[in-house]
Amino acid sequence: MSETLSSFSELSQFEIDPASVQLLGYGYCDKKHVVVLGRVDPDGHGAVTVGMLHPGDQQLVDSLRGYLRRPVQPVQLNAWEIGRALDIGYGKLDPTADPGRLVLPDDASLDYAPDNPAPALTMQLLARALALGARQIHIERYADDVDVRLRIDGGLHPIGSPLSPANVGAVVGYLAALARLPEGEPGPRQGLIRATVGDEAGGRAVDLHLAVLPGPYGDDATLHVTQTQPQPRPLEAMGLSGPQLSSLRARLDAAQGLVVIGAASGHGRTTMLYSILSSLDARRRKVMTVEPVMEIDIPKIPQRTPAEGTTLAQLVRASLDHAPDVLAVGDVSDAESAASVGVALQRGVLVLAVVESADAVGAVSTLRRLGLTDDELADHLVAVVSPRLLPRLCPACRTAAPDDSRAAAAARAGHPVQGFTAPGCEACGGRGHDGRVGVHELLTPDAAFREKLAAGASAPVLRQVGGSEQTVVQLALQLANAGEVDLATVAGLPGAADHFSASTQAPR
Ligand SMILES: [Zn+2]
Repeated sequence: MSETLSSFSELSQFEIDPASVQLLGYGYCDKKHVVVLGRVDPDGHGAVTVGMLHPGDQQLVDSLRGYLRRPVQPVQLNAWEIGRALDIGYGKLDPTADPGRLVLPDDASLDYAPDNPAPALTMQLLARALALGARQIHIERYADDVDVRLRIDGGLHPIGSPLSPANVGAVVGYLAALARLPEGEPGPRQGLIRATVGDEAGGRAVDLHLAVLPGPYGDDATLHVTQTQPQPRPLEAMGLSGPQLSSLRARLDAAQGLVVIGAASGHGRTTMLYSILSSLDARRRKVMTVEPVMEIDIPKIPQRTPAEGTTLAQLVRASLDHAPDVLAVGDVSDAESAASVGVALQRGVLVLAVVESADAVGAVSTLRRLGLTDDELADHLVAVVSPRLLPRLCPACRTAAPDDSRAAAAARAGHPVQGFTAPGCEACGGRGHDGRVGVHELLTPDAAFREKLAAGASAPVLRQVGGSEQTVVQLALQLANAGEVDLATVAGLPGAADHFSASTQAPR
């Protein structure tokens, strides 16, 4: 499917010239889903470019060649684009007008009333899926059941939905109408739905490529989501637990202090930073960023990368002259940048700092090593969020493993857990894994933690003191119990040894 989609041409690449479009009759074009693109020189002999729904239809290409008396160069467009080009070419549509967008709500509550009309059901489902960060939405119909599954980060996740055999036909029909698919035409069809999520001014634009496939119980629908520009993921879609999410939000409301995002590279540090930035109210507070590379452009937030010959630290100090309330520093990896963070903290700014670390307490060690003092850290540290991505067991082939030796070791250590294994199947290409799943440690220092920190306590001591509601290992054990990850993965995490020993000492 993705190959078919990527071979789509974009209508915007072609000039729509009314005289050229009108070389073919409107009725014929509308019925056959073809449209002449570009400016055709009436005296020329070159090939005419024709947008087609099915460019491989040789019989149709031959007919077009006959009508136009010229060679034909077919390119693939979707039904919506062909209809739009025809309407512009025949003067039925002002080309400067917005092609029309579906505006979806930002809040993604699904009410499960199956009697809602199809448009309401459809909008809720799309809004919910997009809020969860879905890249694909699958609506599959069975004899007495409807499955809705979302592909998120490579993994396919079933979700509860109000769709049933009684209402799914109307929902798929509404999607087809939004994508302007030809009515009453049997067979597989494809189209495009342009949508804006959130209010029109600050909303994000997404394209939903709809594919409809007839089956024994009616049409199945699959929507492929493409962002028209990269977007931060909503904080609530990052995989933090409910209590972590509200705790982190409360810390981000702090007027000043240090919030650290600490993780190994490749574990979603930058994704987390952008997600946090997009959750801040940038109208109420002045939020600025200094980043080695600007990966995502966030509306209403001034973002800067160092010019050649300038260091990140110099740019941080320069940014302070603009009196930010919140300053994000995208990479604190040397003494100079750590010192600039120290200056920002002295000025009473809420600093979001990205550092390299294995876990939350490890981020404290990193900042100490780079030169922040124990007193500075004890005074200013508000939170450390430490994301980690673990390989996710394939949901298609995972099974409970009754004789898992690590489960036995965990039970002996006072952490009874069900182990799972995934031998590999067709769905996962025999790998047994399907995408990655995030666990997040959130450290929010309390008085005891600050006291130890100020006294220069080592990382192991700080881990003992705690400050995190749950450690990465505890969270990973929950994922293991739910069959999301295997116990070998959990056992490989830092600090996991305590959870798997046969020792009789009480677990902390
Ligand atoms: Zn599998």
